[in-house]
Amino acid sequence: MVQRFDAAGQFADGAQYLAGTRRAGTSGRKQSVVDPATGAELLAYELAGPADVDAAVAAAEAALPVWAGATPAERSAALHRFAGVLAEQAGEFARAESAQCGKPIRLTTEFDVPGTIDNTAFFAGAARHLEGRSAGEYSADHTSYVRREPIGVIGSIAPWNYPLQMAAWKVLPAVAAGNTIVLKPAETTPLTPLMFARAATAAGLPDGVINVISGAGKDAGEHLVAHPGIAMTSFTGSTPVGRRVAELAGRTGKRVHLELGGKAPFLVFDDADLDAAVHGAVAGALINAGQDCTAATRAYVQRPLYDAFVSGVADLMAGVRPGDPFDPATDLGPLVSFAQRDRVAGFVERARAYATVVTGGAAPGGALAGGAYYLPTLLTGAPQDSEAVQAEIFGPVLVVLPFDGDDEGLALANDTPYGLAASVWSRDVYRTGRATRALRAGCVWVNDHIPIISEMPHGGYKASGHGKDMSAYSFDEYTQIKHVMSDNTGTARKAWHRTVFTCR
Ligand code: NAD
Repeated sequence: MVQRFDAAGQFADGAQYLAGTRRAGTSGRKQSVVDPATGAELLAYELAGPADVDAAVAAAEAALPVWAGATPAERSAALHRFAGVLAEQAGEFARAESAQCGKPIRLTTEFDVPGTIDNTAFFAGAARHLEGRSAGEYSADHTSYVRREPIGVIGSIAPWNYPLQMAAWKVLPAVAAGNTIVLKPAETTPLTPLMFARAATAAGLPDGVINVISGAGKDAGEHLVAHPGIAMTSFTGSTPVGRRVAELAGRTGKRVHLELGGKAPFLVFDDADLDAAVHGAVAGALINAGQDCTAATRAYVQRPLYDAFVSGVADLMAGVRPGDPFDPATDLGPLVSFAQRDRVAGFVERARAYATVVTGGAAPGGALAGGAYYLPTLLTGAPQDSEAVQAEIFGPVLVVLPFDGDDEGLALANDTPYGLAASVWSRDVYRTGRATRALRAGCVWVNDHIPIISEMPHGGYKASGHGKDMSAYSFDEYTQIKHVMSDNTGTARKAWHRTVFTCR
């Protein structure tokens, strides 16, 4: 068994991080961080209130001139050192993430933490490749060039499902491009975002470049979005809250970047490798207990493979081992909270009226009864317009539906408000080619589902938001483009003045 994480010891001085200083919030309201595997309180801390947000924005504003004025090489060197500090502390990060989220330690050790280190290393390199179009004489009398500049202080809001990775996705492109940032993690999972900011300081990033306020969405979050000192809001979370954030940001005309919910289809054509599709569906549905915005949630399987796919998935799901997140043998941890477990159970209970629960559909008993666990669940027979097919359940629940023609499968796959991710399974390159074009999603996998990579963009279509995280494309969100047009004639009386006045 892996050693557990001492949150109370690590965060005795509070759960806010402003200008390189650890401190307590001043809202007067307490928040618990709870171990969802047991229900035990890991930490009780004072939430940030509006005054803390103001102080964090002031710290980020103060740090901006120096950080924005640093050369790309200087920012790059700092981020390379940051990646090194994260690597040294990898074990501690994995334990903290498993403790606050209930993620199996294998997942945090092999996915969350190395992914974050790699992201940091990627943006250390990318910081030196901020490009604009080449300079040129687009008017004979002028030389034009483009400057790509930071926007200013960024206010970012992140969810609880991948607290460390979401902090990294929000912070890294922003600071690599010369902005400073105030990050608000989900108030229930602030531990690894705070550790991330502390590690940046240990790596030598100047105080105030990365600030973390651990506060509630309604007061600290809304105050941050509406704050006049914030030049841009970047948000990852649910679609309804994202729309509220966009509305608030719109009142002050801020740029908004939204990474929202998903309901990814998993489309299996009749020539697919069945074994690969079955394994892919179970891994894609159960990663992070299904609390993944790109998780496989709706499998559409062409009729000839449908029965074998359903029984293959049910068998594999039955062998998945729920257990203590700190046991390296555990496959499936609890959901992030008891509220989330009850929400997922509610979806499945309502689905019993219109669908068949093939496996799962319950919380495990015995030693796991005290945690927020829910068994891997397979639903069949749900109508396309039912809640289980249309709504984001965000738990270990996969719905499987049959289809006949390819066009029907593609139409069903596109038939939800969301468009974050999708996958297509086939051995036929022409079929996968047609499908990748037709699927309305920001990421489409072919014969796989879930892998992500720092060099490639992540972001949605439709109700899943707009804008890209990761990759060099994220710089389009966190920079602004300035056209500089420089006269190259040196004349006082320019030819074009005659268009305005004729007196010489
Ligand atoms: P959520 O929308 O409830 O909360 C996200 C964040 O917003 C939290 O920090 C919360 O405190 C804050 N918040 C809540 N109300 C607010 C308000 N009125 N104003 C400002 N901030 C507010 O989402 P969640 O339940 O934490 O996370 C799960 C959701 O995140 C799912 O919908 C999932 O699909 C989505 N998600 C999307 C991506 C992506 O890349 N598209 C990645 C991860 C998670």
